[in-house]
Amino acid sequence: MNCIFCSIISGDIPSKKVYEDEICFAFLDINPQAPVHCLIVPKAHIQSADEVNEENACVVAHIFSVIPKIAKELGLSAGYRVVTNIGEDGRQSVKHLHFHILGGKQLSENMA
Ligand code: AMP
Repeated sequence: MNCIFCSIISGDIPSKKVYEDEICFAFLDINPQAPVHCLIVPKAHIQSADEVNEENACVVAHIFSVIPKIAKELGLSAGYRVVTNIGEDGRQSVKHLHFHILGGKQLSENMA
C-alpha cells in the first residue's frame, strides 16, 4: 500500500518524531498551521475516523490517552485543539487516520 504515513512510521520517509510506542506514532506536521502542530497516527493503517469500529476503537482510546502526554511535552499548558479530518468534505488529504494537535497560541474560534 502506498501510504505516506505508513512510510513515515516505518522510517522510509523521515519525520520529526515526537513520540512512539507499539500502537501509535507522533511527529511534527511538515506544514504547520499553528506554532505547535503535531500529528498522531495509529501504526495500523485505518483510513479515517469513519473506519473506527468496535474492533479498533481501542487504538483511538490509546491515542487519546497519549495526547495529554504529548501536549505536556510540547508545552501546551494553556490548551490546545485536537482535530481529525474525514473524507473529501472534511478536507482529509492523507488517507491514514491522524489527529492534529494544534496549539502554542490562542486558536481561532472558527471551526469550519
Ligand atoms: P489532513 O489534511 O487532515 O489529511 O492532514 C494531513 C497533514 O499531513 C497536513 O497537515 C500535512 O501538512 C501533513 N503532512 C503531509 N505530508 C507530511 C510529511 N511528510 N511529514 C509531516 N507532515 C506531513
